[in-house]
Amino acid sequence: MKEGTLYLVPLAIGNPLDISPRAIECLSNVEIILCEDTRTFALNMAKFSLSANLLSYHAHNEAERNPEVLDLLAAGHDLALVSDAGMPVISDPGQSLVRACREARLRVSALPGPNAALTALVASGLDASRFVFEGFIGKRDAELRRRLLELLSEERSMIFYEAPHRLARFYNIAEEVGLGDRLLLAARELTKQYEEYSFLTLKEHLELLEIKEPRGEYVLVLEGLAEYRKRCPEAVRASEANELLERMQAGLESGKPLKEIAKELSQQFNYSKREIYQKLLDISK
Ligand code: SAM
Repeated sequence: MKEGTLYLVPLAIGNPLDISPRAIECLSNVEIILCEDTRTFALNMAKFSLSANLLSYHAHNEAERNPEVLDLLAAGHDLALVSDAGMPVISDPGQSLVRACREARLRVSALPGPNAALTALVASGLDASRFVFEGFIGKRDAELRRRLLELLSEERSMIFYEAPHRLARFYNIAEEVGLGDRLLLAARELTKQYEEYSFLTLKEHLELLEIKEPRGEYVLVLEGLAEYRKRCPEAVRASEANELLERMQAGLESGKPLKEIAKELSQQFNYSKREIYQKLLDISK
């Protein structure tokens, strides 16, 4: 018997016109649609008179549902996976199912379509040739601080999803770790009636929050170190020199041989082994 296919079908991220004709055709042809919330999906899709059975598939039942879905596919049924908005799998359930299908050699086919991260990135004016998607990072302050500290040296543009009531926390912690002068695009309510973009430094976004309460859905696109270095070479050089100094002092305290410290640090900083060795000698005098 011919096996079925799991179709990954993107829905609109706001403007209902953004769902593609092919996505509608696919949803009309499959027998079963897996969706996060069957009632919301049925309401949103009422005008398309789809005949498929709806099966709930969300963060809390993914693991239990997967074997059942695999059996349905193996028995020849075509299924579609959708999420409440945008691309399934992206900050939404589905990855474990796709993985299970891949491992079972079952067919998976993804349709292209709306996604909030890419929509914001292309509208950001920031480097879109190389970028990283961070999604929702850090529910707890300590976790967010640790991740943002790691991202301080990220060369590429970075994309985040953030809830409006957490924006102030994101900006404050990002400023504390040293990202205050980076450019950031806050893309709000993309494709919807109150769509709005603000392209400012992170510090300026913080000031703006004092006069304007954030509402709606947000994607943040943050300038990476490579672009920031080009825009503000002096600032980057100064902060790198500070960090290097701290690392040299820590190296000296550890009692490691100067040559070893110089070699290690020259691999991480934009200074030669000789330059660092000389600086170490100067400090240790
Ligand atoms: N699967 C979706 C996608 O492909 O973009 C993302 C789902 S995730 C659960 C929801 C988050 O995506 C929101 O909190 C927000 O950060 C972002 N988002 C979704 N739609 C958006 C929109 N219209 N405008 C701005 N951000 C949006």
